[in-house]
Amino acid sequence: MSGRRKPDWLKMRPPSGRRFTDIKQTLRDRDLHTVCEEANCPNMGDCWSGRDGPGTATFMLMGDRCSRGCNFCDVQTGGMEPLDPDEPENVAAAVAEIGLDYVVLTSVDRDDLPDQGASHFAETIREIKRRDASILVEVLIPDFQGDEDAVRKIIDAGPDVIAHNIETVERLQWPIRDRRANYEQSLSVLEQVKRESDIYTKTSIMLGLGEYDHEVYQTLSDLREADVDVVTLGQYLQPSRTHLDVFEYVHPDAFETWRRAAEEELDFLYCASGPMVRSSYKAGELFVDAVVR
Ligand code: SF4
Ligand code: SF4
Repeated sequence: MSGRRKPDWLKMRPPSGRRFTDIKQTLRDRDLHTVCEEANCPNMGDCWSGRDGPGTATFMLMGDRCSRGCNFCDVQTGGMEPLDPDEPENVAAAVAEIGLDYVVLTSVDRDDLPDQGASHFAETIREIKRRDASILVEVLIPDFQGDEDAVRKIIDAGPDVIAHNIETVERLQWPIRDRRANYEQSLSVLEQVKRESDIYTKTSIMLGLGEYDHEVYQTLSDLREADVDVVTLGQYLQPSRTHLDVFEYVHPDAFETWRRAAEEELDFLYCASGPMVRSSYKAGELFVDAVVR
């Protein structure tokens, strides 16, 4: 179950093909960033092509520098830049040009801004929907330091799915996440969305950071208690030597066991679980299969 050497199941083929290069070009032309590229995500081939359903890409809003510093994340901390007022329009135009049916929007944390970037996020959702109301929009939002008004701005913009990642079990929140993040605050963001809307909610847990099975089960139970609809579980991979070590490489069979527990015992709408699964992994395809069809 454990070991530091990367096992074979984590080796992926690099993405290629015409659609892949076309999307890359559109992003360069509009000076936009995707998490897919920034994190060199191994799922790009699958997600961008939408081989078996809607194509998905994850746009990163509000710059490439974060006001926080989580110990698992490769995004640079500090040196925050002003927001680009054209970004909502540019993202919406790129989505139309690429022909995506399902878009994931996420952002760095912007604790430095008066509303922590909630209005900018909301404007981007509205701009995409204004151009084509049939495009499904999932947003992966920060905790906004528990500011309910900020979360409400996102709800009011009418995305189809609101995701917020709890990232890990309660005991390991620190040192894995920035000190400003915590378990209760993340649960309360997800609870608020359900309390104030009928928007689907989603969260993600990384495995391989030293969590015990009973803690993962407890986290899944707490998330169901908060009425969260969708959960994803994936392997933590160390972005560089200065980041947290991988504690273990969790076997694919264990991920399958968690998927069954989440869907069959705890009654999540669906669970994507596997070593290479990320919060937005084939998000469009899975959402359409579970909800729309
Ligand atoms: Fe990375 Fe998000 Fe943490 Fe910022 S808040 S360091 S983007 S995980
Ligand atoms: Fe992009 Fe998310 Fe798919 Fe990775 S899993 S390619 S970040 S949409």
